[in-house]
Amino acid sequence: MSFELTQASDLASFLDSAVSPAHVVYEVTRRLRQANFQPLDERSAWSYQPGQRCFVTRGTGSIIAFETGHSPPSESGFLLVGAHTDSPNLRLRPNFDVRAQGHGLLSVEPYGSPLLHTWLDRDLGVAGTLVIAGSGPILFRSLEPIARISSLAIHLNRDVNQQGLKLDAQSHLRPTITLEPAGVERSPLWDSILSDVSKRLARTVELQEILAFDLGLFDEQGTRFVGTGRELLSSGRIDNLASCHAAVTALTSAQSITDATRVVVLYDHEEVGSRSSTGAQSTLLSDVLFRIATAASPLDKEAYARAEAHSLLLSADMAHAIHPNYADKHDEEHRPRLGGGPVLKSNANQSYSTDIGAMAAVENASRAANVTLQKFVSRNDIPCGSTIGPISAARTGIRTADIGSPMLSMHSCREVMAAADISPYIQLVKAWLEMTP
Ligand SMILES: [Zn+2]
Repeated sequence: MSFELTQASDLASFLDSAVSPAHVVYEVTRRLRQANFQPLDERSAWSYQPGQRCFVTRGTGSIIAFETGHSPPSESGFLLVGAHTDSPNLRLRPNFDVRAQGHGLLSVEPYGSPLLHTWLDRDLGVAGTLVIAGSGPILFRSLEPIARISSLAIHLNRDVNQQGLKLDAQSHLRPTITLEPAGVERSPLWDSILSDVSKRLARTVELQEILAFDLGLFDEQGTRFVGTGRELLSSGRIDNLASCHAAVTALTSAQSITDATRVVVLYDHEEVGSRSSTGAQSTLLSDVLFRIATAASPLDKEAYARAEAHSLLLSADMAHAIHPNYADKHDEEHRPRLGGGPVLKSNANQSYSTDIGAMAAVENASRAANVTLQKFVSRNDIPCGSTIGPISAARTGIRTADIGSPMLSMHSCREVMAAADISPYIQLVKAWLEMTP
């Protein structure tokens, strides 16, 4: 198998295993451990050595991995890559058990901004985290498709193709999980969960032992390569797990350490504005960078500020490729195409954080990696999206550039990117981590 094909199939298996932010962190941790990264606890005291490979998690959906350089961060800075672990979906409400018209349903709440109609008529699974009394958080993933949100037949909604589908998020999104709810005391979803958890903990777990949960729906179909030449990778969560995968693959495979300290930060909650104890607006990144910089230079009171001034951040999030059926949605001179390679995103109003210092550094990294960069700027009459780049830049003062890989159907239950874009994305991020800031 060629290098490119290996990386495409590796991303496919990453996507299939990472069905919730907590599953992303689990899979990233597994890969980091294989590459000799050691866990660090935020509650412990940290020490510093050059060439140290460590990772820190906060909450269930955010993780930072780093590899210290030859010289302390106050002298050579941090080379950072940031991405996010969360994707829009439908999350279960605390009292999710609902019955109507002989159906056992789930009460759900949209997380972020999903394209709601794409969740209809799919075979869905349930995944996320549970906290059980006496144990830490535990991952759950249904092994079968157990839920389905059925669309209304056209015979009962005659104008739908002319008027467009209008969905009421409160009443039209409840998935059916059973047709036999009558006389059943609790949702059969609890039976699946309790039987799974009991097996894994090797004891009988009762419902009252579940103290908390964060569960959501995912598309059970999994990743497929589509097209006559299998050019397209179709999957849920490509935004932004393709970037998490590129960052972790680049960090674990980058050439032997240089002077700078390499950092990968993967945040939860980007899709809902990053305002949480673990999102990009939190202290997570600045806390970790401060602790590395001061552990490396304990006598230097300016170590952290000096380290920040040396540093560069690459904010990696997916980019809008030109859509063949909606070509007028892009500015004519800025039309990244699927298969055309990574995209540098900029916005004069700082919805993307790309400043000229970091822009030049991305250009250098792309030349070192022999990867062509495409450019994206949104149309003046279509508001620009945003990402963790501007938030992290504002919180840390670190020069930042926003990049991504081109994709279509962003925020759909099933998104798509070109298989040919996977390897160049990883190569660019790797070249970034290998440069001198
Ligand atoms: Zn994103």
